[in-house]
Amino acid sequence: MPRHTTDVLVIGSGLAGCATALAAARCGMQVMVLTKGTIPEDSNTVWAQGGIIFRGKADSPERLAADIREAGAGLCDDRAVDLLAGEGPRLVEDILIKDVGVPFDRVLEGSEELDLTAEAAHSLPRIVHSADTTGRSIETSMLAALGREPNVTLRVGQTAIDLLTLSHHSSNPLDVYAEPTCVGAYVLDQATGKVDTIMAKETVLATGGLGRVFLHTTNPSGACGDGVAIAYRAGARCLNMQFVQFHPTTLYVGEERFLLSESGGGGGARLVDDRGREFMTDYHPDGSLAPRDVVARGIHQMMHETGAACAYLDISHKPAEWVKRRFPAIAARCREMGLDLASQPIPVVPAAHYACGGIVVDLWGRTSLRRLWAAGEVSCTGLHGANRLASTSLLECLVWGTRAGRQAAQNVTTKGDYYLPDIAPWQYETEPTDPALVAQDWLTIRHTMWNYVGLVRSRRRLDRAHQILRELHLEIGRFYARAALNDGLISLRNGIQTALAVLLAAMEARESRGCHYRVD
Ligand SMILES: Cc1cc2nc3c(=O)[nH]c(=O)nc-3n(C[C@H](O)[C@H](O)[C@H](O)COP(=O)(O)OP(=O)(O)OC[C@H]3O[C@@H](n4cnc5c(N)ncnc54)[C@H](O)[C@@H]3O)c2cc1C
Repeated sequence: MPRHTTDVLVIGSGLAGCATALAAARCGMQVMVLTKGTIPEDSNTVWAQGGIIFRGKADSPERLAADIREAGAGLCDDRAVDLLAGEGPRLVEDILIKDVGVPFDRVLEGSEELDLTAEAAHSLPRIVHSADTTGRSIETSMLAALGREPNVTLRVGQTAIDLLTLSHHSSNPLDVYAEPTCVGAYVLDQATGKVDTIMAKETVLATGGLGRVFLHTTNPSGACGDGVAIAYRAGARCLNMQFVQFHPTTLYVGEERFLLSESGGGGGARLVDDRGREFMTDYHPDGSLAPRDVVARGIHQMMHETGAACAYLDISHKPAEWVKRRFPAIAARCREMGLDLASQPIPVVPAAHYACGGIVVDLWGRTSLRRLWAAGEVSCTGLHGANRLASTSLLECLVWGTRAGRQAAQNVTTKGDYYLPDIAPWQYETEPTDPALVAQDWLTIRHTMWNYVGLVRSRRRLDRAHQILRELHLEIGRFYARAALNDGLISLRNGIQTALAVLLAAMEARESRGCHYRVD
């Protein structure tokens, strides 16, 4: 069985993975970055539209921290909030602007002054962006920077299956008594179908979100909650899984739910019903600029009360030229769907968007397993509490990715007592996977999560979901154990595990708070 060894193994090549890898490489580490995507850009990061938090005029760390806490509904970890508010803007400047050179928009072409925008629940404009394709600009610049680092290897088409942990995998009986420790991962090479053993002194999970376990989501196809499921199986602590943020405004046309950033709101877009009435003021004094979960439930409620199939986002009162310049990607997607963003209201529905919970980490990205780190959306730093303030997630990736990369490197440099055990060979199974079973299982997971564990939850809905998902979990486990391995099967096994983790957390959390809403 192929066996590779590296100092730092980073699983995931979105912003969190790139930031971790860059930081570790700059500290002299050999770094291996893996992604299951067929191209390294395949990630949530690329889809980010609105921007990343920087620094507003008359802004301060205290003011940013207050906005984050307000959105987090009393469950933010103060240390995490203060860390991001104090350190984040400086890292945007040092890494994204000065070092890797992300082309953020300026107020005027050729000017130094960055164009700042506001999004939902920000008390002032402080977000920098590259038109409405900020994530793509950041990802492209970060990957280019990684490409210039000679000690970074980036491998695409590599799906992490499970972590290697001393107590689980070692043939040395004494290790059973060792503190649970991660020593790398089993990884499927999609091209060859072979499973590689990647031994690492330090391992970082940066696998992103879980939106795909819901029927409607803004997340791309890879966001099945792999990292949470992998960590869960290895025994790492996960927290706040019930807090899944639903984005209020995604395009209600076609199969995929394309996100219509509510920086349109900061830019003046209005949320209206099919009669053109601004209904959100019925539910919150801030109307369309209320926190995301409030707006998402407001739309959901309005649809229930009036029988409407969707709401509408209307920016037609703004000059057409400005709309096209400010939202080129959104305008283009609307055009593809036969809609004109600049002149007509656009149909929208809510969709699962962001996981506020995940693998518990400390201020350095350390998990509860020795030598395992997590950064980005897969982690739970405590920053978001019960709900995320818009545009804080890219900054969280940058801050915790950088810190985890540096600290993991410091461990390698200073500790030096790494024991990498013999690993039992991978047992290949041969039964072919029936694609009809996989497709139907995904439908069951997604519909169950959307209808029973979605925007509005109740005990009866959650109990019903528990019955369905528990049975399905056992069934998928049975056929996974006999089937020939492929990327789709790995995702399904992870998807059901992560869906259950969200469900169980939602069952335990009996009070409505932030983006977890119990109607009972
Ligand atoms: C449409 C949209 C718009 C958004 N807009 C904003 C915004 O304006 N501002 C903001 O701050 N945030 C925004 N977000 C949220 C933000 O983009 C994400 O939270 C952030 O990019 C997550 O980055 P990440 O590095 O943690 O994960 P990702 O960028 O999702 O990267 C995950 C990586 O892990 C890999 N991976 C997953 N599983 C495996 C596996 N088993 N084996 C190997 N590799 C694996 C994936 O292929 C990918 O490379 C938006 C999200 C979406 C979907």
